[in-house]
Amino acid sequence: MNRQQLRCLRVFLALAVLLLGFGSARDAHAINNMRLCARFTTSYHDIRSGQDYLINSVEPATRHYAEVHTGFSNQPPVWTGHLTDTFVGSNLYACTPWLPIGPFSQHTLWVTNLVLVAPHKLIIVYPNQSSGSQWHTQTFSTPANPIGDSEFNATFAGTPSDHVSLVATRVGPSFIPNTSSDIYYTTYADVPAPGLSQTVGGTVYIGSITVNGVTDKDAYWRSVVGHEMSHQVAHFMWGDWANPYDVNTSSLPACNCDQVEVVGDQKHCLNSLEGQSAARTEAWGHSFSAQMVNLPTDSTAPFGYYKRVYDPQANETCVAGHPQVRCPPVTADAVLHFNWMEGYCNTANAGIEVDWFAFFYQLSNKTPDRWSPGTFWNVFYTECPAGGCNVTWSSLVTAATTFLGPTNPKTLYMVNTAGDQNGVNHL
Ligand SMILES: [Zn+2]
Repeated sequence: MNRQQLRCLRVFLALAVLLLGFGSARDAHAINNMRLCARFTTSYHDIRSGQDYLINSVEPATRHYAEVHTGFSNQPPVWTGHLTDTFVGSNLYACTPWLPIGPFSQHTLWVTNLVLVAPHKLIIVYPNQSSGSQWHTQTFSTPANPIGDSEFNATFAGTPSDHVSLVATRVGPSFIPNTSSDIYYTTYADVPAPGLSQTVGGTVYIGSITVNGVTDKDAYWRSVVGHEMSHQVAHFMWGDWANPYDVNTSSLPACNCDQVEVVGDQKHCLNSLEGQSAARTEAWGHSFSAQMVNLPTDSTAPFGYYKRVYDPQANETCVAGHPQVRCPPVTADAVLHFNWMEGYCNTANAGIEVDWFAFFYQLSNKTPDRWSPGTFWNVFYTECPAGGCNVTWSSLVTAATTFLGPTNPKTLYMVNTAGDQNGVNHL
């Protein structure tokens, strides 16, 4: 039977089914409704006890773009759109709506790593710079005898770009406002070694680290991916700040990155003394990333940090002869007050990432006078409308005072409580 004959047969069968459907009065099972769902297997390396999101071995492809094709592949799709969270029993899936698709035919679910993060705002995740968008497909057959509504679940092997796009599902619309036309934010999930993860001009590059000949892809580190996406959000929302890593450096092990084993990665780390603007830039990323995997109502907010940390309080065995070096993932709980600069590295015009990390998380989540994403956006934009500024504690206070007002509870909480408790209130 050639393709034309097959098509004629299919039309005949469809008509026959339609007539039978009318003939048997109101048989609710004459037409199948189908719902197709997609998930990815995951293997993240930085899962910490107490985290709430992206912690299972299978995660729904929430808000991923998908198409449903029926019959011949040259036919237009019968449905296109973004998958939505759907509970099937107690399990969370990402599904199409119910689609009224007739029996006895083949359907293919196409899913790509294009995630809707707000109306008309999408993060598109490519495997790397040389290849295009990556489709996953799985074909389903509807039974010949109609059985009523059917649900089909596809679990795709989790590639690096799947892991990265799942993190993108946690970039909430609260951070990225609606627009009237589609805007795409580009991320490359698997930049070939020796590319380190970075964000340049709003484009995210997720690289890898090679230690002793073993390469570990950052795509499997939610903390890295979330951190880089924070720079992407900042770039498009209020602009990039100056990030002077190499000023105000320290020779004290507790205040530098000499413990990081990859020489090219010794630039800035959680405990290192940096320019205040650099510490703020990177700490914003850590706080944003911690928010992606923790509920604000939890009493803890563990973040799985991805570089070695020199901690005078540690007693570890991961690096022989160096008990004060902690190895990744290093748990940093964002609800703690570290006061690292006041404790170990007191220096003027400088900052420490871990102090500003806890400060931003506290303002975002841990006070009735919490700063919403919109509050941060407006204050940061007031502080540095054209980008490129050397932002400081005092420029932040000035911006909050200007935008929110000097007696606004959010301003007062920042100045009197959060700034002091985390020791970031230094010139
Ligand atoms: Zn960064």
